[in-house]
Amino acid sequence: MPVYEYRHTEAPGEGCGEVFEVYQPITEARLENCPHCGGPVERLLFAAAISTPHTNTELKNLGFTKLVKRDDGVYENVTRSGEEKKYMTRGDASSVPDIRSKIAD
Ligand SMILES: [Zn+2]
Repeated sequence: MPVYEYRHTEAPGEGCGEVFEVYQPITEARLENCPHCGGPVERLLFAAAISTPHTNTELKNLGFTKLVKRDDGVYENVTRSGEEKKYMTRGDASSVPDIRSKIAD
């Protein structure tokens, strides 16, 4: 599942960066509002390796999963929690982050 980059189309809310990343199934509808402040957002191309406006801890607390490419086909889950593996490896389904455990309801 890819990470998408979104950008606020109006002034971001308190504590929001202008651009943020969301880990979403490719089949899921694109977000129209920021999950943090509710402001209108637009989806950009797939996120590049850029610095994010939130720290990894903030992202984790917001329920985001952030993957950082470490090698060809190897991604570090820098917001991992619980039983999630530190590294997601291409082709290893057991290493995929457990997104369902982060959805409260
Ligand atoms: Zn926002």
